Amino acid sequence: MTAPKKFASQADLEDKQVSFTRLSANAYAYTAEGDPNTGIIIGDDAVMVIDTQATPAMAQDVIRRIREVTPLPIKYVVLSHYHAVRVLGASAYFKEGAEQIIASRDTYDLIVERGEQDKASEIGRFPRLFRNVESVPPGLTWPTMTFEGEMSVWLSKLEVKLKQIGRGHTKGDTIAYLEDQKICFAGDLVEYQSTAYAGDCYFRDWPTTLDRLDAFKFDKLVPGRGAALETAATTGKAIASTRAFISDVYTLVHSGVADGKNLNTIYKEAIAALRPKYGHWVIFDHCMPFDVTRAYDEATGHMHPRIWTAERDIEMWQTLEG
Ligand SMILES: [Zn+2]
Repeated sequence: MTAPKKFASQADLEDKQVSFTRLSANAYAYTAEGDPNTGIIIGDDAVMVIDTQATPAMAQDVIRRIREVTPLPIKYVVLSHYHAVRVLGASAYFKEGAEQIIASRDTYDLIVERGEQDKASEIGRFPRLFRNVESVPPGLTWPTMTFEGEMSVWLSKLEVKLKQIGRGHTKGDTIAYLEDQKICFAGDLVEYQSTAYAGDCYFRDWPTTLDRLDAFKFDKLVPGRGAALETAATTGKAIASTRAFISDVYTLVHSGVADGKNLNTIYKEAIAALRPKYGHWVIFDHCMPFDVTRAYDEATGHMHPRIWTAERDIEMWQTLEG
């Protein structure tokens, strides 16, 4: 018997180049060539980080960069959504003054419902990001404050708006933005030259949610993965290309289902059809099996994403790629 084919991301072991990009006197982006990004907002009296990195050990590098530009306490941690690869680094910020971990109520509910399974599954999927997994304390990252719809956090006189603009990457997606400066931190709702992970998404809602995001006409945007976008034109392009990818995946899968094809056939056809257009994006091979499986579920009547477990990950991977 041959060994099962590894997850695409398990073969990805090379370190990424980190960029710490200044977007304004108040906003920075910590990005790493397609690895999960962290946003930083510096107010008059405190700092907010948006998404924490996969482990406290990885968060230490974010903190090191923040300390090069401000000594202020990092009082607020915002979770754009519940995925482990962005939230399990949270404990590192407690030593830097963190008082609140803020998330939407929908994100909180997802942590209750599937946080443990997601943690086990993501640790299995991303060995490089979780190589310091022993630095993650036991248990999950729990929000200390939740909101429904929108809220403002005041860093003295600087207002940070947190808002749910619709379901997309998950049902809990939250954007954080500085309205006057037209700067947005979009989480995984938008990716730039990186493949959108859609295993927990709402395919039929996501494009409409992106239309709402586009209507803000932000000048600068930090995507979930990929470089910070420093102009309105590149921001618009990243939103449009993410939207095109999500629509393309769903259209292909939906028509395969309508033709009575099975998941395996649909997957192979989708990969062949989409690789020329998107195959050069980071984590394309990693995301496609999850994305097509979720699209198939949604097209066959599963309105809500099914929970991924470490076991379901392996079973799916062997069915489609084994
Ligand atoms: Zn995510």
